[in-house]
Amino acid sequence: MAVLEHLTSQQAITLENKYGAQNYHPLPVVLSRGEGVFVWDVEGKKYYDFLSAYSAVNQGHCHPKIIGALKSQADNLTLTSRAFYNDILGRYEEFATKFFGYDKLLPMNTGAEAVETALKLARKWAYEKKGIPANQAKIIVCQNNFHGRTISIISASNDPIATENFGPFTPGIVSIRYNDINALQEALLDENVAAFLVEPIQGEAGVYVPDDNYIKEALELCKSKNVLFMADEVQTGIARTGRLLATCGNCSCPDKNCSGTPDVKPDVLILGKAISGGVLPVSAVLANDEIMEVIRPGNHGSTFGGNPLSCAVAIAALEVVRDERLAENAFELGQLFRSEMEKLIEETDLVRLVRGKGLLNAIVINDSEDSSTAWDICMALKENGLLAKPTHGNIIRFAPPLVMTKEELLDCIGIISKTLKEFDA
Ligand SMILES: *Cc1c(COP(=O)(O)O)cnc(C)c1O
Repeated sequence: MAVLEHLTSQQAITLENKYGAQNYHPLPVVLSRGEGVFVWDVEGKKYYDFLSAYSAVNQGHCHPKIIGALKSQADNLTLTSRAFYNDILGRYEEFATKFFGYDKLLPMNTGAEAVETALKLARKWAYEKKGIPANQAKIIVCQNNFHGRTISIISASNDPIATENFGPFTPGIVSIRYNDINALQEALLDENVAAFLVEPIQGEAGVYVPDDNYIKEALELCKSKNVLFMADEVQTGIARTGRLLATCGNCSCPDKNCSGTPDVKPDVLILGKAISGGVLPVSAVLANDEIMEVIRPGNHGSTFGGNPLSCAVAIAALEVVRDERLAENAFELGQLFRSEMEKLIEETDLVRLVRGKGLLNAIVINDSEDSSTAWDICMALKENGLLAKPTHGNIIRFAPPLVMTKEELLDCIGIISKTLKEFDA
């Protein structure tokens, strides 16, 4: 690979444009190294990473403990498939189920696969446990959701860019307004509903935080109707929002009043992204026995799901979250970030509002959704050494690795503030 050694940014971009399918529109920066909260481009310029690979790199880039686990496992065994047992999957399953408070874990690779798994689990549970007539099961989802990119998952999407010309779609999906408890109540009148699939905060949609009681009330409504509450915490989970989970089942969150009440625990928990600290594609579906037991040998699977390398990495990645108190750090830094952004909003007309939880935040730019202002601001932030990406036109998501220190965050707030003021001038 010696040819790649001296690639310039422009050469790398040209190669991707020429040989890669054009299914993304990246910011024009070519990264070749990462450490903690920082990444470096091929010319050696250093940046704060304020995207964290869509919250996959909560533990920071190339965390030495996680990379150490990767390397030592790679020397021993990487893949067995599930045709045979391996000596680490069970240990990982024990660790993760205890960590999140569930009986069982089903290992997959990507977030989309975990969501697909949850959909299949819900349908099978509906027929075998709830008694819904064959092929009648429905899944309720929310408008503006993001659950991934497979055919079934985009069947639940109302984003035209994600869905146009990809039909026909998977039936059995009902879409309701997010953060509208009455809409859920109405949808639950249908006795063929198997599950409600929801993000505790809609990340891709622009970090929409629902009302305080929405998730809890939704959970209780589902319980009263014998409908599975399935939380897609692929982006919000693993300490991102200032708690181990945004739905806060039984976590070690910094909220002293929160005892991790069991009745606010999702029936099905979907995790991905940061479960591996951004090192490998690792995802998981967690549920208790009475739900997970409907999946029998042959019903579902994945060649790479539960591979030894992923399991070793995921254990290390979760240990980092626990040992470095990343939930607590995200909670505290998030409050600081939003209060500093509020001050900035007072000083500039460019930003309409800031919202979020923990270190999953977004600012809304005071311009139309189809304007290029947010993109242009991200370009200016890049010049000033901070990488962020617009989501849905005029919204910029700010989600740095959770290993950030207070001093680093203040430095970043300085960069954001300076950039926005330059832009406004
Ligand atoms: C990223 C994401 C997914 C999909 O994960 P992939 O690994 O990209 O397939 C699903 N749900 C949510 C909430 C996400 O943010």
